[in-house]
Amino acid sequence: MAEHSKIEWTDHTFNPWIGCTKVSPACDHCYAEAQDRRFNPRSGHWGPHADRRRTSAANWRKPLKWDREAAKAGTSPRVFCASLADVFDNHRSIAPEWRRDLYRLIEDTPHLDWLLLTKRPQNFAKLAPARWVHDGCPPNVWIGTTVENQAEADRRIPHLLSIPARVRFLSCEPLLGPVDLTRWLWGREKPCDNCPQDVDCECGWEPRGTLNGEAGLSWIIAGGESGTGARPSNPQWFRDLRDQCAAADVPFHFKQWGEWHPGDGMGDDIDGSAFGCFDDADRWVHPVQQDFAATRQTMFRIGKSRAGRTLDGVTHDGMPG
Ligand code: SF4
Repeated sequence: MAEHSKIEWTDHTFNPWIGCTKVSPACDHCYAEAQDRRFNPRSGHWGPHADRRRTSAANWRKPLKWDREAAKAGTSPRVFCASLADVFDNHRSIAPEWRRDLYRLIEDTPHLDWLLLTKRPQNFAKLAPARWVHDGCPPNVWIGTTVENQAEADRRIPHLLSIPARVRFLSCEPLLGPVDLTRWLWGREKPCDNCPQDVDCECGWEPRGTLNGEAGLSWIIAGGESGTGARPSNPQWFRDLRDQCAAADVPFHFKQWGEWHPGDGMGDDIDGSAFGCFDDADRWVHPVQQDFAATRQTMFRIGKSRAGRTLDGVTHDGMPG
C-alpha cells in the first residue's frame, strides 16, 4: 500500500483489498502471500478458502489526493492496482460494492493512469462494469496481464486483446521460459494502409482480437525473479523479447535481472556466489552434473540490487506514448 512505489514502471501502488489464490507458475513465490503470512500467521488471505480483506478508508482516499496533485501539476502519474491482490479475482469474499467503489474511484480520478495488472484477463467481461465492457474502458485505464512462458502467452493474450482498453500491456516477470510474441506485436503504426486485418494478410502480420482496427500489445515489461527461491531467467529470453519489440516498434521495459545475473564480464564480483547454467535445451543444470563446456549460459546468484537492470549494457525504460 506504499504511497510512492519502488517499482520502476509506476508512481504509486494502490490495493483496494488484500488476498488472492495462486493460478500459475508465476505465482509460485508470490511475495504478497509471503508478506501476508508474516503479518497474519493464523488467518491469512491467500487461497480458495481464505477471505480477502478490504483496505482502510484512509487508504482509499489516497488516490483522490494523488489526482488533485496531478491536476495541479499537469501530470498523469501511473497507479499500479493491485500489488497484493488481483483485481479480476472472482473470489466470493470480494463484495460487489468493493468492485463498484473501485471502478468509481478510477473514473473519479481522470488525472491518474490506472494500471490494472491481472493473471485473470478472462474474468474482465464478467467483473468489469458493463459500460467498460460494451463502450470501452475510460482512457485512464491500462490493462495488463502476466506472461511467464509461452503457454500463458497463448492462454492469456487473446483474452487481454479482447478488452477495449487504450493500453494493453504484458508483464513478463518472472520470465520462466522463451516467449514468442510476434503474433501480437503490432506496433504503433499499421504495417500498410490497406491492411485487411486477417490472418492471411499479405504484409505478413497477424493481428488478433481486433478492436477499432487497433488491437495489439502496446507495452512489454520483462524481468527476472527476486526473493527466496528465485528462479533464474536465461538472458537470451530477455534479448528475444527486446528484439521482437524493436522489430515491431513496441516499447520495451527491462525492469530487473532479479537475483540471478549472467556471469559474462563480471570478473571477481561473482566470487563465492551460487551459480548454475542453462544448457543448449534451456534446461537449468549445475556444471558438476554436466560437462561445463557443454553448457551455454552460466548464471550467478548475486542479489537483486547488485544484478541491476541493464541488458547488454543498455537500460530499457520504454513506455507507451
Ligand atoms: S495472481 Fe499475483 S497476487 Fe495472486 S497469487 Fe499470483 S502472484 Fe500472488
